[in-house]
Amino acid sequence: MIEDELGRPLRDLRISVTDRCNFRCRYCMPRERFGEDHTFLPKRALLSFDQIERVVRACIPLGLNKVRITGGEPLLRPKLPDLCAGLSGLGIELALTTNASLLKSQAKELASSGLDRVTVSLDALDPKLFQEMTDGAIPVEAVLEGIESAVEHNLGPVKVNCVVQRGVNESEVPDLVSHFRGTGVIVRFIEFMDVGRTNGWLRSQVLPSESLLAYLQRDFDLIPVEPASPHEVATRWAHSDGSGEIGFISSVSSPFCGDCVRARLSADGHLFTCLFASGGHDLRAIIHSDCHVDEITDAIAAVWSRRDDKYSEIRSSKTKSLPRIEMSYIGG
Ligand code: SAM
Ligand code: SF4
Ligand code: SF4
Repeated sequence: MIEDELGRPLRDLRISVTDRCNFRCRYCMPRERFGEDHTFLPKRALLSFDQIERVVRACIPLGLNKVRITGGEPLLRPKLPDLCAGLSGLGIELALTTNASLLKSQAKELASSGLDRVTVSLDALDPKLFQEMTDGAIPVEAVLEGIESAVEHNLGPVKVNCVVQRGVNESEVPDLVSHFRGTGVIVRFIEFMDVGRTNGWLRSQVLPSESLLAYLQRDFDLIPVEPASPHEVATRWAHSDGSGEIGFISSVSSPFCGDCVRARLSADGHLFTCLFASGGHDLRAIIHSDCHVDEITDAIAAVWSRRDDKYSEIRSSKTKSLPRIEMSYIGG
């Protein structure tokens, strides 16, 4: 098992399979920056499923036990179940983060290909606000049907992640809690983060989890739940009547860099050791070569052993001006 300079193991690899998306969420891919003239990765630049599988195999001796497939919108990548089938035999937990707009038609095949769990991003139930936030034509019903399909095919516990932006969607929070209460779906509220350089992030738009919890406690009787694992990023709360659980991910108000065991692989083969990195480690040459997988293990070990990232703990006016990679490229 490998540890970085701050003693953190490598447990979790997030793999972006595309930088494209069928939504234009204002806080992630604002249309004016990701419009018709935006240059996405060409198809030939994307790692093949075999190459992705080799990277995952290379990470397992280093301690990896979980892979999350993400993007962009991962369900836009053709034949995604083939990737799941390849990864599912490797003895790791296999999860997917998706906007769920295409999940209804794919959940069954994904489940039978070995995908374990799905996390769905959903920031509003109100149809009008949903369309404003995602800036597209796909209705919220498509996402809700995708969630139902994931539950039906045992891709659970299904989690719903909601990014809360003050002045935009905080009014949706109690409705999301009520909607999923009693369904087994766990809703988690994430503080709006300063990822990338295109979303015009302002600290004043961050609604701290503590305030959100206090606000919710007026309507719901919530009791704290112990973390399921030492590296869990969400704080957990349950309805006192046993009707379900919610969570808070406080990336801004209460950073968890000390427990951050995640690496990210971009769709074209760059390895990132922090969500706020200004650049990645280019693994393309070694991934594209026909070297033994041990050589990829050594290359990743060399990167991880030098890792000292803790951006969220040192976020300040100085870090604000540093270049940062976009979330839709690096994989959320
Ligand atoms: N398209 C998929 C989806 O939306 O689930 C996967 C990729 S998306 C980049 C992954 C996650 O990043 C989503 O849950 C999204 O809400 C989150 N995200 C994107 N920009 C963010 C920001 N500025 N702050 C917090 N979360 C953000
Ligand atoms: Fe697409 Fe996900 Fe980004 Fe929204 S958050 S624009 S769904 S990649
Ligand atoms: Fe991990 Fe970087 Fe986020 Fe800290 S800021 S939790 S090191 S990804």
